[in-house]
Amino acid sequence: MRIAVLSETDPGEPRVAAVPETVKKFVALGADVVVQSDAGKLAGVLDGEYEAAGATIAGSAEDAARDADLVLKVRRPAAEELSAIRKGAVVVAIMDPYGHEAELKAMAEAGVSAFSMELMPRITRAQVMDVLSSQANLAGYRAVVDGAAEYGRSLPMMMTAAGTVPAARVFIMGVGVAGLQAIATARRLGAVVTATDVRPATKEQVESLGAKFVAVEDEEFKSAETKGGYAKEMSAEYQKKQAELVASHIAKQDIVITTALIPGRPAPKLVSAEMVSSMKPGSVLVDLAVERGGNVAGAKAGEIVTDERGVKIVGHTNVPGRLAATASSLYARNLYAFVETLVDKESKALAIKWDDELVKATILTRDGEVVHDSFRAKGDGPGSEASSVGLSKSEANQSSTQSSATA
Ligand code: NAD
Repeated sequence: MRIAVLSETDPGEPRVAAVPETVKKFVALGADVVVQSDAGKLAGVLDGEYEAAGATIAGSAEDAARDADLVLKVRRPAAEELSAIRKGAVVVAIMDPYGHEAELKAMAEAGVSAFSMELMPRITRAQVMDVLSSQANLAGYRAVVDGAAEYGRSLPMMMTAAGTVPAARVFIMGVGVAGLQAIATARRLGAVVTATDVRPATKEQVESLGAKFVAVEDEEFKSAETKGGYAKEMSAEYQKKQAELVASHIAKQDIVITTALIPGRPAPKLVSAEMVSSMKPGSVLVDLAVERGGNVAGAKAGEIVTDERGVKIVGHTNVPGRLAATASSLYARNLYAFVETLVDKESKALAIKWDDELVKATILTRDGEVVHDSFRAKGDGPGSEASSVGLSKSEANQSSTQSSATA
């Protein structure tokens, strides 16, 4: 079994799909691992460390991918990489499949079996493979660090000989995986933290982290969580009540971190231009949903927008990539945990169980066809409009689009 780890071709992607720790484990599984030269450089891993872990280094993607049974990447392979990968090879990455049907077709035509890590079902067995969680957690942490760096004051209260500095007030909007880590991080930095969400389960989670929960807790709130654990899109009436509550709260905040997403929908608009202008000069908003349309009016993907009063809206893209070393380690472990299930320990070869629920949920292309029900062209087979994987189409969409926030 030959495994190739390729460099990322997207200039905005510093992460890498394997680290020395996972290379060692693949070698122990019986694999020959080939890493493209400099694949880990932007994530702080040099070729020599991969070699010390048992890999060989190849000078180009062609050399690395030649004869590989399995290709590991962070992002979907580009057309020029596909030509280097042999027919029948397995490719595992964050494929970002929604809205990229042409690219999926290209992978099918290249004859590869493509697996999309972000479609992994959120079940106990697959928690260790959950790239959305591993990357969103880091994004939540980094959002607070980025917010603190842009803020011209300190976060903790400080009592000094020259006088007392008050603690910063940090408000987290959306308390999923990223939001919970943002709360914990802001608390560790000494801020006074409040948080909001539309899912009732989050109230206890927020309070257990030592933050105060702020939300419109009406009848609609009580049923705002789907069976899958995601948020529903709220009614216009709820959104109005929420906006009124948020408007008075936000005017007193120093840093606002927004992470709110709804499966299959654009990110909810939570912070209006009026709310932004109600904040004190020098306040900072960090919009983690910016790649899905944004939670904050005026947020721009890839930019820090500063208004005339000095309020900043931070719209970094690929936020996990801003912690490329840690994000790569966790992603690489997620990948190893999944790949291990595809390998026969006796024969030390790939032996994919095509009826395994994790395989069925994540496989996009096989034998020249797009095989995932959510992405097959209309009329190509039964269930072409619905997912066969226990994840509703909208939730799968959530996974996919969210990955672009985390990818
Ligand atoms: P997400 O990225 O889909 O959304 C982020 C947060 O935004 C959510 O908490 C959501 O409720 C919130 N939100 C949506 N609309 C909002 C609005 N109008 N106002 C305020 N907040 C709003 O969420 P996620 O991080 O993927 O987590 C979703 C769920 O999945 C959670 O229940 C989480 O505990 C669960 N989860 C389960 C597993 C597992 O079982 N393996 C792993 C990870 C997450």
